[in-house]
Amino acid sequence: MNSTKTDVWKNCLSFIKDNIQPQAFKTWFEPIEVVKLSENVLSIQVPSKFFYEWLEEHYVTLLKSALVKQLGPEARLTYVIKMENTFGNKKAFTENIPSNYRDSVKPQNVSAPLTSKVHELKNPFVIPGIRNLEIESQLNPNYSFDNFLEGDSNRLARSAGLAVSNKPGGTSFNPLLIYGGVGLGKTHLAHAIGVEIKEKYPDKTVLYISAEKFTQQYIDSIKKNSRNDFIHFYQIIDILIIDDVQFFSGKSGTQDVFFHIFNHLHQNGKQVILTSDKAPVDMQDIEQRLLSRFKWGLSAELQSPDYETRISIVKNKLFRDGVEIENNIIEYVAKSIKTNIRELEGAIISLIAQSSFNKMEITIQLAQDIVNKFVKNTKREVSIDYIQKVVSEYFQMDISTLQSKTRKRHIVQARQLAMYFAKKFTKASLASIGSQIGKRDHATVLHACKTVDNLSFTDKQFRKYVEDLNQKLTV
Ligand code: ADP
Ligand code: MG
Repeated sequence: MNSTKTDVWKNCLSFIKDNIQPQAFKTWFEPIEVVKLSENVLSIQVPSKFFYEWLEEHYVTLLKSALVKQLGPEARLTYVIKMENTFGNKKAFTENIPSNYRDSVKPQNVSAPLTSKVHELKNPFVIPGIRNLEIESQLNPNYSFDNFLEGDSNRLARSAGLAVSNKPGGTSFNPLLIYGGVGLGKTHLAHAIGVEIKEKYPDKTVLYISAEKFTQQYIDSIKKNSRNDFIHFYQIIDILIIDDVQFFSGKSGTQDVFFHIFNHLHQNGKQVILTSDKAPVDMQDIEQRLLSRFKWGLSAELQSPDYETRISIVKNKLFRDGVEIENNIIEYVAKSIKTNIRELEGAIISLIAQSSFNKMEITIQLAQDIVNKFVKNTKREVSIDYIQKVVSEYFQMDISTLQSKTRKRHIVQARQLAMYFAKKFTKASLASIGSQIGKRDHATVLHACKTVDNLSFTDKQFRKYVEDLNQKLTV
């Protein structure tokens, strides 16, 4: 019997491979290294204690059969556990495995090494009591590339997403960071990439998770003293998609753990896809080293869709729902709701719902009522308080200064601008605006509005103030 440890292990692996799912083989057997063979005892090295326990729990019979085939009925197996106690600084040592474990190829000597409780800690997605070896991708199949309509506003992000789907980990878009405002399709696109990869590469492990849930799992793992298991779980993912990473702001523990997981995945050619509601430069309370990682790949922005794209999104939605609406109504809705695709869809859904509940035809009148509700809802957020806050921040003064009785020119101008915008953006009366902005009367407010109108004609610098503030108040 002159076979080397490598041959023995190779033969074991090919036997095992024939008997389990390719994904499971890849996850649980490829990382194993063979260490030593003496007589009938084979030593293998596994990456962590968790790994060892998992093998014992799920594959002991298979391992036994494989080994007995190679080394005869007296075959035995020992494990060496390579623990990662600090990152990047690996220390291998032999775990003191109790003798009953060491004889694990004789199943009659093995006491059940795991309770299902320990299990539930390992894969944070596993529902207690349910054994689930395959990692569920958590993807929503309804979010696909097919129904992610293309337009100028999303072309870069969409095609980068497609490139990544064709060759996950194999492009320079790693990580791919998709950013943009609320309701512009970040989550949809992130899922679409995952769904597409799963279709093209069924053997790859894809995982979608929101940054919030990731944070929660991480906190739980600390409480349960299983931080390493948490990290290990994420390190075996091939394509990791984390949605809304701005949620990591100010959470240094989570950022730290993510940083290490990210590095591990990146070094091993795995793909990372992130979404955020801000560009990396605008992210606050995110550690510099993490921000610099975000910039390694590609940051692609989703912008507000142009009119044409809005029309096709609405038409597509109607088509999928099997509803027909006159073109002028579609155009009206697409013209009125500009900055948020979720709201655009919401308006269409209410339109359909209203008409079917009340057995009404979908008319332009109904469309106007519904759009008004959506548009008003966003307008209501601009209050006089908010306007004063924005204006005083813009001129770097306190609200109390803005409201004070002083005649200093720049303060007077700031106050007049606040009044002007209060008139423009709220339904408040002149008297009510006056009383809220420094206890002035309605005539003062009227005068302020006229002055702002005049100055924006005659004074270039002043016009810039008006434009800047207008923009700040309308986004
Ligand atoms: P975000 O995550 O950026 O807030 P979502 O991905 O949740 O936005 O998108 C909001 C809604 O708009 C979803 O229903 C999504 O399907 C839809 N949507 C966004 N972009 C597109 C697009 N390009 N084509 C079709 N539907 C879109
Ligand atoms: Mg989202």
